[in-house]
Amino acid sequence: MNDSGLLIVVSGPSGAGKGTICAALRKLFPNIQYSISMTTRQPRPGEVDGVNYYFADNARFEQMLSEDAFLEHAKVYDHYYGTPKKYVYQMLEEGQHVMLEIDIQGAMQVKERYPKGVFIYIVPPSRAVLEHRLRSRQTDTEEVIAGRLSKAREELDWIDRYDYVIVNDDLDTAIDDAASIIKAEQCKVMRNVKNIAQTKELYK
Ligand code: 5GP
Repeated sequence: MNDSGLLIVVSGPSGAGKGTICAALRKLFPNIQYSISMTTRQPRPGEVDGVNYYFADNARFEQMLSEDAFLEHAKVYDHYYGTPKKYVYQMLEEGQHVMLEIDIQGAMQVKERYPKGVFIYIVPPSRAVLEHRLRSRQTDTEEVIAGRLSKAREELDWIDRYDYVIVNDDLDTAIDDAASIIKAEQCKVMRNVKNIAQTKELYK
C-alpha cells in the first residue's frame, strides 16, 4: 500500500467553521481529494447531487450498507450519512490525500478501521460564539439551534480521541494551524518509507 496519502478526518459542531477550513485546505493542498458522502437527507437549496453529497433514499442507502460499501456511516439528525469506501481507498492507493468531513460517530469508526488517519477536531472559541454563528446563518429554527448546541456540548467529551484540536477563533489562524498539521504529517517517517528507501539506494 502507498504510504504517502493521508486520510484526514475533520469533525466539529456545525457552526465551528469546518466547511470553510476544509475548503481553504483543499486550495492550499491540491492533492487533497474530497470524499463525497451519501446521505438520505433532502438537498438544501443550491446543493447538487454528486457535488455536495450523493442524495439517496433509505432503500439505496440500506442496500449499500448490506454490501459493506461504506468506510463508516452514522445517523445524524434522523438521517443516514456514510462515506463510500471504494473512492477513499482508491485515492489513498494512488498516494493522494483524502479529506472526510464527518461527525464523531463516523470518525470513531474510521479510527477503528484506519488508525493511521489524521483526526482533527475543530471547536468554536466559546458557546456564545457558536450560538451567534448558528443564529447568523439564519438557516435553522430555534429548536434546531438548541439541538445543535446541546449536541456540541456532548461532543466535547470525545475530543481526547482525536489527534489535534483547532480552536477557530480567528479563521486565518485556524487555517494556518490546520495547514501546519498536514505539513507535519506529510513529513512523518512512517509516511515516507518509500522515499527513504529510494534515498538509501542513491547512497549505495
Ligand atoms: P449536514 O446535513 O449539515 O450537511 O451535515 C450534518 C452532519 O453530518 C455534519 O456534522 C457532517 O459533518 C456530518 N456528515 C456529513 N457527511 C457524513 C458522513 O459521510 N458520515 C458521517 N458520519 N457524518 C457525516
